[in-house]
Amino acid sequence: MKSNKVIQFIIVIAFLLLITFGASQYQAAENNDGSLRLWILDVGQGDSILIDTPAHQQILVDGGRGSSVLSELSKALPITDKEIDLVISTHDDADHMGGLNEVFKHYKVDKVWLTGSVGTTKTYQTFLSLIAEKQIPTEKVMAGSTVSFGSLQGIVISPLQSYDGITPDSQNSTSIVMFWQYGTETFLLTGDAEIPQEQAMIARGVLRHADILKISHHGSRTASSEEFLKIVSPKITAISAGKGNSYGHPHQEVIDRLKILNIPVLRTDQDGTIRFDITESAYSYKTGL
Ligand SMILES: [Zn+2]
Repeated sequence: MKSNKVIQFIIVIAFLLLITFGASQYQAAENNDGSLRLWILDVGQGDSILIDTPAHQQILVDGGRGSSVLSELSKALPITDKEIDLVISTHDDADHMGGLNEVFKHYKVDKVWLTGSVGTTKTYQTFLSLIAEKQIPTEKVMAGSTVSFGSLQGIVISPLQSYDGITPDSQNSTSIVMFWQYGTETFLLTGDAEIPQEQAMIARGVLRHADILKISHHGSRTASSEEFLKIVSPKITAISAGKGNSYGHPHQEVIDRLKILNIPVLRTDQDGTIRFDITESAYSYKTGL
């Protein structure tokens, strides 16, 4: 009996150690294959994208609207990893910025990139208060700003003007659009940039091919012009939109345009969370995560 109890005790301790440390180490080890992970998180109607490098540096681009980003992040990151290296707030709309306020409360954020455009909502005021309270360093960016994490390099290609201190007519027009390169692989994250911003990027000559394109503005017809899609000529695209959302996103015109151009599309409203595993020479993806 006595030795049975000892064995039971050992089993219980081993199990506790496994759930405390084993799961996170397993996840961390999983990412040691040298691939970078690009997560299009299913946060309903909104955008939240996580880049997780092989060295476990994390960049979070937007946070969706509510707290769903937290459960999504807990799926993507080891339970022990509560630090995000860089948060990029593409623009001041609540379906991108709202969840970042939850992230600030639960994660240590090392830096925030924003345009400095002035929002008019309570969500925006909370965003500023939390950044001040947590003393998070911020950097106001526009086209030309760059960042690198190991062999991952990112460059902002829109907005082409500074919005620092400006209340814009349309928040979407201020969206931070970023071109990312990892080895030979490239991806373009567009926020909610619309056709006038697409035209401006084309006119300025800053737009180029990207292997993976996050379709702008949840697949709205106000973005993704034929000219834009032809220049980017992505191998694959992802749309972040909520199931049965009231905007009708993604709009059928955009879906049709992608079909005509023979560009495959993944959708969070149909495929759930999407993860691209990107090596320095190829990518693959999984859905329904
Ligand atoms: Zn949006």
